[in-house]
Amino acid sequence: MSASLAASETTPKAAAHTTGPSPAVMATYARQDLVFERGEGAWLVTPEGERYLDFASGIAVNVLGHAHPSLIAALTEQAHKLWHTSNLYRVAGQERLAERLVAATFADRVFFCNSGAEACEAAIKAARRYQYVSGHPERWRIITFEGAFHGRTLATIAAGGNSRYLEGFGPPVEGFDQVPFGDIAATEAAIGPETAAIFIEPVQGEGGVNVAPKEFLRDLRALCDKHGLLLMLDEVQCGMGRTGKLFAHEWAGITPDLMAVAKGIGGGFPLGALLATEEAAKGLVAGTHGSTFGGNPLAMAVGNAVLDAVLEPGFLDQVRQRTLRLKQALAAVKDQLPDHVEEVRGEGLLTGLKLKVPVPEVVKAAIGEKLLVAGASGNVVRMLPPLNITDEEIVDATERLARALERVPVPT
Ligand code: PLP
Repeated sequence: MSASLAASETTPKAAAHTTGPSPAVMATYARQDLVFERGEGAWLVTPEGERYLDFASGIAVNVLGHAHPSLIAALTEQAHKLWHTSNLYRVAGQERLAERLVAATFADRVFFCNSGAEACEAAIKAARRYQYVSGHPERWRIITFEGAFHGRTLATIAAGGNSRYLEGFGPPVEGFDQVPFGDIAATEAAIGPETAAIFIEPVQGEGGVNVAPKEFLRDLRALCDKHGLLLMLDEVQCGMGRTGKLFAHEWAGITPDLMAVAKGIGGGFPLGALLATEEAAKGLVAGTHGSTFGGNPLAMAVGNAVLDAVLEPGFLDQVRQRTLRLKQALAAVKDQLPDHVEEVRGEGLLTGLKLKVPVPEVVKAAIGEKLLVAGASGNVVRMLPPLNITDEEIVDATERLARALERVPVPT
């Protein structure tokens, strides 16, 4: 053993940690003190063998649940062949996934990255470059909405406009004008000679499961057409089958110019994508944007396997049926516990309960019932099961939720 290694092993900082979360991991998350060893469908299992029903799905990521056999097969088969070559070369899986996404959506072009924030960054850059190459370099500002969440990079926290995420990081990245969610008059009033685009989540997830009215989305499309702006959607959380359509905007019968996608598209493998019309993509030519890992063979193998499942005939119909069951069961919980639950809301299996009791206490009480749920702004708890959840698991989860709510005293 080298002298330096021996010395580091005896330093107090290495010796200090025995139980609980390791201080070696930066404390950027308010984590639950839970560790899971494996997953099976909608269930997560601790090293002690305790089973938790997972209605958080890694925050709307594990669309096919945990350890889905076809995703395991796709990943391991690819792992034996090739992991990474970079974008110096063509990547066969990218071409296949891009062509399939193009066939299934409004898009003509796809850019692959690794996360939701990166997909949103790419969308922001694409919108600015589009106006630039269209002879409007003065148009670089983007209208965003109160309650938005687009990620944690410097540009995406500025786009989201949440003061809690901006505080202490210096001047916010310029170029975002925020208006109230759902307010078409305020949106139109915010359009100026520098406006390039409008950027919206069809269903705000982190913001509290706020569903944009379909009429509002249609009005935004019309505003963009009238003023020469791009309509940019963030479907990182609400896309990929979660609402019962492949993408949430389909419910409104509109198409965007740009769309950021991530989370569910990789089923648990880090994968993000920017989808664009040919016109909206025209600014992003070689050298304008890139990513070392974006669209690497492993992510592409899994992405193609996720898409196989979601595009399987009947899959989205089943999501819609399961949505009905979940909504009915949650409405029953609300009727049973009116002092705890104010409202059940959401689209598809992106469901939220606005509560009258503190959400952090409910999340803890749910853990006591071996149920995992996710909080959101506005005192909302999210129920985001895998899209292939069973009816029995829906009943089981809502019973656990009701028991958890009953444990939390109503404030007087
Ligand atoms: N956009 C939306 C709508 C999201 O919900 C999230 C994450 O929760 C992001 C962007 C950022 O995604 P990521 O955490 O993968 O960067």
